[in-house]
Amino acid sequence: MKILSADFLVSAASSKQFPPPVLPEIAFLGKSNVGKSSLINALLNRKTLVKTSATPGKTRQVNFFLINERFRFVDLPGYGFAAVPQSERSAWRKLCESYVPERESLRGAVMIVDIRHKPARLDQEMKAWLDHFGLQTLVVCNKADKLKRGEIPRALKAAQEALGLEEPPLAVSSKSHLGRDQIWRRIGEWLAERSRIPA
Ligand code: GDP
Repeated sequence: MKILSADFLVSAASSKQFPPPVLPEIAFLGKSNVGKSSLINALLNRKTLVKTSATPGKTRQVNFFLINERFRFVDLPGYGFAAVPQSERSAWRKLCESYVPERESLRGAVMIVDIRHKPARLDQEMKAWLDHFGLQTLVVCNKADKLKRGEIPRALKAAQEALGLEEPPLAVSSKSHLGRDQIWRRIGEWLAERSRIPA
């Protein structure tokens, strides 16, 4: 995919602030610190379009980006901070539940896990939740540059088993750009479809 333009559109703290669902959308989600912001920036060839989660206030909002004036990337807030209070967790839940189940322009989700850690219970719940709403999801294991090449297949198998995937997830790296073309290929397929339901 040639990126002609990539612009920040809006940060939404509630569903009232979501832009009208007039363009196809691809959602990104993952536990905090898996490299979600870095991966989106890498896909778009930008260094700092998406602020990392270290930026105050950025973690509890849904951020919309307009790509090539044709489709949107939707950065959902990271889940699974070890120490977040229950109130914040339910705020996350409310926000994401107002987006994923109902958004008619949503075409697919890229779910990011850290290749060095077997997906945790929260990741399993998240995958099951996305499946429940019939959303096609590409699971990617980020930070593959941190493993030796020979260690990657075993890590992918562990993630596949933990998440109950039919195929091994994709090893990617926002640092080395490993897997970037494959992610774009999948996004291209989703954008060519009319709905979120797999054919
Ligand atoms: P987010 O919280 O999921 O948005 O994660 P960030 O994009 O802020 O990344 C969290 C940390 O992981 C930062 O220190 C990044 O530099 C680092 N990081 C992200 N992706 C990669 C990667 O593919 N390889 C390596 N080695 N580090 C990464």
